[in-house]
Amino acid sequence: ITNLHTTFNVAFAIVNKEDEEAYTWLVERLENLRVTETVDQQICLWHVLKNVQSEVKRKWNWPDGQQPPQQALREQEEEDNHMAWQHLIDQFAEHQEPAVSYILSTYFPWRKHFLECFTRQNRNFGVRVTSRTEGSHKELKSYLLNSRAELRFLASRVEQLVKDQEASYNAKRGEEATRQLGQYSSCRWMGDLRYRLSRKALGLVAQQHRICHSRVKSDLGQTASQRRSEPPPECTGAFRHQFGLPCSHDIERKLRSNQELSYLDTHPHWHLEESLAANDPLVAIEEP
Ligand SMILES: [Zn+2]
Repeated sequence: ITNLHTTFNVAFAIVNKEDEEAYTWLVERLENLRVTETVDQQICLWHVLKNVQSEVKRKWNWPDGQQPPQQALREQEEEDNHMAWQHLIDQFAEHQEPAVSYILSTYFPWRKHFLECFTRQNRNFGVRVTSRTEGSHKELKSYLLNSRAELRFLASRVEQLVKDQEASYNAKRGEEATRQLGQYSSCRWMGDLRYRLSRKALGLVAQQHRICHSRVKSDLGQTASQRRSEPPPECTGAFRHQFGLPCSHDIERKLRSNQELSYLDTHPHWHLEESLAANDPLVAIEEP
């Protein structure tokens, strides 16, 4: 996933079966290409939900009149999630033994790799699912005339797909640059983020700004003892860690000390190749 949120495939591989051996081989090839940093392993949430649903439907004892609970897989807070698993065991382990023991043995040990309350502790830039890879696979198929293509033809189609991905990235880069200057030029608090980060990243930062903005504004010109607004909830560092962008607490600190954000405090994943400052008519006005 690029800084503009488009898809770009760094590698393609052909394997004759989808098993552990083939998967290991693939990962080793990727490591040789040095395209992977140290990464946190995640399992695709979409596939987990799909598999659990179909398996549980088969194993569920329906005459019971109860629907299978989904909370254990969906609860967003770690503590609530913990309770949901406990609830699943307490309520259903006895009467729904096959379904519950299936979930407990197959998915519970791996929960930290796909449940959002855990995976958002990873530096994953918000990615939870592998659907983009599925999408590229499907797209590549559409580049082929049929499923029995010759290897050389397949290779040339892969090359074409990558070229097209690059072209659509470049087209989007131009569009996004114009849109983000229109949208964020006047946001001085953003500092050079406006020109150095992609619009996708700025959208995330703007959301964090909204969380603290009204509080900072209502405290303006008040001494600490006069301030009426609630203090913010304590910073867990989760947002900054997951996205590599300043969280509402970071922004609040900057606003209160009358400082602007700096792109040096953000993860390079979001950086644009070239600063947009030269294209912004407002820059000339702001800096005499
Ligand atoms: Zn924070």
